[in-house]
Amino acid sequence: MSVSNHPKAYTSAALVVAFTAGICLTLGFKDLYPDLQRRYEQRKRTKEAALYGHRESSFLPPVELEDHTKPEPPGPNSSTPPTIQIGIEGLIGHTKLVRIKSLSEATGCEIVAKAELLNGAGNSPKDRVALHMIQVAEKEGLLKPYNGDTIYEGTVGSTGISLAVLARAKGYKCHICMPSDMSMEKVELLHHLGATVERVSPAPITSQDHFVNLARRRAEEHAGKWKDGSKGFFANQFESGANWTAHFETTGPEIFEQTQGDIAAFVSGAGTGGTISGVACYLKQEVGLKDVSIVLADPQGSGLYNKVKFGVMYSSHEREGTRRRQQVDTMVEGIGINRLTNNFEKGVELIDDAIKVTDTQAMRMARWLVEKDGIFIGSSSAVNCVAAVCTALRLKKEGKGGRVVTVLCDSGNRHLSKFWKQIASQGLEEEHGNLGLLELLELES
Ligand code: PMP
Repeated sequence: MSVSNHPKAYTSAALVVAFTAGICLTLGFKDLYPDLQRRYEQRKRTKEAALYGHRESSFLPPVELEDHTKPEPPGPNSSTPPTIQIGIEGLIGHTKLVRIKSLSEATGCEIVAKAELLNGAGNSPKDRVALHMIQVAEKEGLLKPYNGDTIYEGTVGSTGISLAVLARAKGYKCHICMPSDMSMEKVELLHHLGATVERVSPAPITSQDHFVNLARRRAEEHAGKWKDGSKGFFANQFESGANWTAHFETTGPEIFEQTQGDIAAFVSGAGTGGTISGVACYLKQEVGLKDVSIVLADPQGSGLYNKVKFGVMYSSHEREGTRRRQQVDTMVEGIGINRLTNNFEKGVELIDDAIKVTDTQAMRMARWLVEKDGIFIGSSSAVNCVAAVCTALRLKKEGKGGRVVTVLCDSGNRHLSKFWKQIASQGLEEEHGNLGLLELLELES
């Protein structure tokens, strides 16, 4: 009997054939499918490439985003402060911005200050600069830790203190040359921090014995003196590019972020010029050349006011080096100078205005801030605050208003034996009673 003649056998055979065909089809499709999928994807990419102008073989690259998969290194270069800081350098940067209430009320403009005295190594903006100068020198092979290498610097104090702290932390020795008329607190601090301190009589920059020239010479003499293969490194804050770039990379961006770019003027004194140039370069670039005004706060006796206002520093008979007297005739420490440094020149074209501040105005401002706001500052910060008030008054007069940002560089603790002693001896601690701020500073509204 043939199968076709038997209905049951026929049905069974048909089922077996259908089942086998089903399995073959499934297996075949499974093998075929990835190829189909690949071809479909390729055709889609070709279409997209034509649309976006890419070559057929390329794929659409991802948008370039910052890599957030790795933690940022701690310190002033990172955008957000990590929770636990690594070493003393982790306490540098990210300083707060504080509204000075009494000055804002008296002028009708918001006056805020970058509290640079909160930098946690040497307690001044020089922490940022000292750290950056060391980092750059290490990168360039000019300093090697735990090798007897010594950092030499000429400084009126603040940079020396920051360098001395960081030298201890990073395995270097530190040798500071400073003028003998700077306050004794700074000398003692440097001594306790383990730095060698060489004090020299104030001299013009043309003299071999100017504190900066002496520091350079000491660095050059290092190898011959120690003969142990260690190096002498002259930090050279006045001319070093690592100075203004420290402020361009950290102070400027922090101010921009903290004010969200809402800033009408930035006011600062200049010692090396690193702060004003670095911050000016950053803010002019980010806020806009015309939208933020950069103002120099200059103490009496400094030539920088004339440079900004009239394009020349001094008359020929006043030039530093042609007179044998103190570099700058003021009791203010840290700002004011009678020569052009690389760091000041970097930003000088961006400075829109300059304000000359007398020692008396600075002393009265320092006293006012203690009495009204409980803020105890040194002389350069007081000069900055007077100039910030003048700038606020100018902005108001021009009908602009807006926020004025300045800097609190260091605490009054560093200035007890000179600036604050003078304030007390002039009777300013009892004096001003009911006088308003503008009367006190002899300013017109
Ligand atoms: N204030 C103080 C107390 C300083 O020591 C200095 C630096 N000499 C400054 C302000 C000025 O900063 P810069 O050197 O960036 O101009």
